[in-house]
Amino acid sequence: MTTDHVWGNTGKREQEESRAWIELNIGHLKQNIESFQSMLPHGCKMMPAVKAEAYGHGAVPIARNLQSVGVTDFCVASVEEGVELRKEGISGKILVLSYTPRGAVYKLSDYNLIQTVVDKEYANMLMETGIKLKVHIGVDTGMHRLGVWWEDTEDILEIWEKENLTVCGVFSHLCVADSKRTEDMKFTRTQIDRFNQVIETLRRAGKKDFAVHLQSSYGILNYSQCNYDYVRPGIAMYGVLSKKGDWVDTEISLKPVLSLKSRIECIRDLKAGEGAGYGLDYTAERDSRLAVLSIGYADGIPRNLSKKAFVLCHGKKAKIVGRICMDQMLIDITDIKEALPDDEVVLIGKSNNTQIYAEQFAEWAGTITNEVLSRIGGRLERIVV
Ligand SMILES: *Cc1c(COP(=O)(O)O)cnc(C)c1O
Repeated sequence: MTTDHVWGNTGKREQEESRAWIELNIGHLKQNIESFQSMLPHGCKMMPAVKAEAYGHGAVPIARNLQSVGVTDFCVASVEEGVELRKEGISGKILVLSYTPRGAVYKLSDYNLIQTVVDKEYANMLMETGIKLKVHIGVDTGMHRLGVWWEDTEDILEIWEKENLTVCGVFSHLCVADSKRTEDMKFTRTQIDRFNQVIETLRRAGKKDFAVHLQSSYGILNYSQCNYDYVRPGIAMYGVLSKKGDWVDTEISLKPVLSLKSRIECIRDLKAGEGAGYGLDYTAERDSRLAVLSIGYADGIPRNLSKKAFVLCHGKKAKIVGRICMDQMLIDITDIKEALPDDEVVLIGKSNNTQIYAEQFAEWAGTITNEVLSRIGGRLERIVV
């Protein structure tokens, strides 16, 4: 099924009314999906990670738009995220990747969500609830986070026998697929081998009709020859790498889906020597003009971007100065004479022919894009462009 229909707020009005907002380029999202499909073995399906509001992009607009290009199954982190998607009419398979507390297990069944079995004890707990559930068994192939240890196939088979649990998938997670150090590549190979052995053993024990999946973004990009039923792309599907310069072993052009924008709220002229902001942390070295932007750390802007980072205003770079506030921040626009109140300012994305990539933004903040993106947007409008 393919349609060109785009889901989400698409009006100019939302954009005009917002003090700060996220723009979603759905064309880029679709291109990234097509790129994965062209790299992966024929028949391999997508189960994108739309947890944490689809890494800040908005779980509902992302899932709906993916649905319109035939991507119907999704991974989320929590049962609540799954419930939200169901309430918004997402009808495909939804896998909850992490633990659901005992008290919320009924929601898995009420909303037809698939739960991950994070270990044997957890399977016992799920069994004790007596609630009929669909599950995927997580297998720990070396990351030592979630999953039944790969050698404990007896335990996996035991979980299969639990009366109220229907096992419809088995998966694992790679933890160094982004690294091309020899020992890391060797470790990933080991994880893949262990996973294959588990699947072999299960098949030999007569288990069939279960979905198998292993790769997230870097597993897709660097180990695309793996041939399982699903892949679970997250960060790369949003057109972004975790870090600038990360190893990508394929010719793929990822297109960023998200832009982050705000507005100039007001403009202040300072004489040389005058200070601005909390702590008067900024001092004008020359007669300066500052713009106050209507976005701050409560919108997910890392407070430590101050002094290191710039934003784009009329396609020109403006340095972030002073301390970032909860709802505002200051930029130096002394050399951008055309800047006026209500003008758009770009924090991530393109302004005329200049672009700030999420990878750069994350580097300024001293972290990875996954973290900065998943933290933005609690208070921002999301607009499809
Ligand atoms: C978050 C997550 C993913 C997606 O990871 P990316 O690195 O963003 O692609 C896939 N699988 C699991 C188990 C996850 O927790």
